[in-house]
Amino acid sequence: MKKVVKFGGSSLASAEQFRKVGEIVLADADRRYVVPSAPGKRYSSDTKVTDMLYQCYAAAEAGENEKYTELLNKIKERYLEIINGLGLNLSLEEEFQKIGTFFSEKAGKDYAASRGEYLNGIVMANYLGYEFIDAAEVIFFDKEGKFDADRTNQVLSERLAGQERAVIPGFYGSSVDGTIKTFSRGGSDITGSIVARAVKADLYENWTDVSGFLVADPHIIQDPKSIKLITYKELRELSYMGATVLHEDAIFPVRKAGIPINIRNTNQPEEEGTMIVQSTCRQAEYTITGIAGKKGFVAVNIEKDMMNSEIGFGRKVLEAFESQGISFEHVPSGIDTMSVFVHQEEFEGREQAVLSAIHRTAEPDMIELESDLALIAVVGRSMKSNRGVAARIFAALAHVNINIKMIDQGSSELNIIIGVKNSDFEGAIKAIYDIFVESQL
Ligand code: ASP
Repeated sequence: MKKVVKFGGSSLASAEQFRKVGEIVLADADRRYVVPSAPGKRYSSDTKVTDMLYQCYAAAEAGENEKYTELLNKIKERYLEIINGLGLNLSLEEEFQKIGTFFSEKAGKDYAASRGEYLNGIVMANYLGYEFIDAAEVIFFDKEGKFDADRTNQVLSERLAGQERAVIPGFYGSSVDGTIKTFSRGGSDITGSIVARAVKADLYENWTDVSGFLVADPHIIQDPKSIKLITYKELRELSYMGATVLHEDAIFPVRKAGIPINIRNTNQPEEEGTMIVQSTCRQAEYTITGIAGKKGFVAVNIEKDMMNSEIGFGRKVLEAFESQGISFEHVPSGIDTMSVFVHQEEFEGREQAVLSAIHRTAEPDMIELESDLALIAVVGRSMKSNRGVAARIFAALAHVNINIKMIDQGSSELNIIIGVKNSDFEGAIKAIYDIFVESQL
């Protein structure tokens, strides 16, 4: 068996956390490839090393030498605390010299940020006695700056074939010109997934500071139930709607290879966490797998007599959004009406340009805007085989006097999306959670 284990920043924030990680890795001989993040926060007001690096580089770029030196020293201290706390015989002095030179040569903010993972990888490899492999040598971006999956997979799988155990730092790789480039924030999750694909792992364990995904947001529902098993598709729907534990782009490499992901808690390693799989015959524990949502949408409601028989009407309307670079979320339609849901923030600045384009090309009878809406996705593979899910959602919302503005059920029957007022958002989630989870209907 081969397992790839990725540890997030809070799992590696101090020597004490490193020790927990060491115990986890060494407890299972299958945990052969380790992908670390940079040291994260030790307490809530602490600063992540990645953020310190961004700030430090900005100071270097602006020629603020005092601030730069002060920040760089603080970063050094973070690593020293870990190295000394673990009693390692390791010095990063030379590495910091190099970093200083690269900073003064303006090597770029991606280079700067990537050093958090790079240095932590060196520390981790030394601590575990594993080989260190610089991600810059095995993870690549293409000419357009997009992740180059094919080249990476080829080089990385060859490199790791000869390596029984290794540490590969997360978050970065090299561009075509050899400079360092990072993924977006939280991108070590992606590296872990890429490594899992390259070694054809049996499992990708992603260790963080929560015991997996929860059925609903704990800021809204007190102590929500956790999700034991979820499919990639369900997860994609929930993450898209705001449930964040894993970087969205981390799903694709392993999904392609059919490798399950197990989200685990470094501080509670005895808990099973959440298993994310390609498919399963196991029904979800509750009829629904999870609920997630986002606030801040606008509905652009368009009416036109006989719209229904006018071929090309929808295209003209959507083109007005496209030409302004605005992506739409949902387009529920009626006989002579059509609504386009967009992000309020994105839409506000370009609202008049979009509206005049719709008027010009589609010649509607009326356009009406409705702002401050929220969308809630009720997601679950078991909905397909359970009758009355929609009815139960609507009854639950009616019961607490919440007016539904929009309903959208994809033909995959994997989710039902409902639009409500921003001010009804939390209440709606509570009502849906209660009916499916608390009362287990
Ligand atoms: N250290 C990076 C960040 O803070 C990447 C990661 O932790 O996954 O975003």
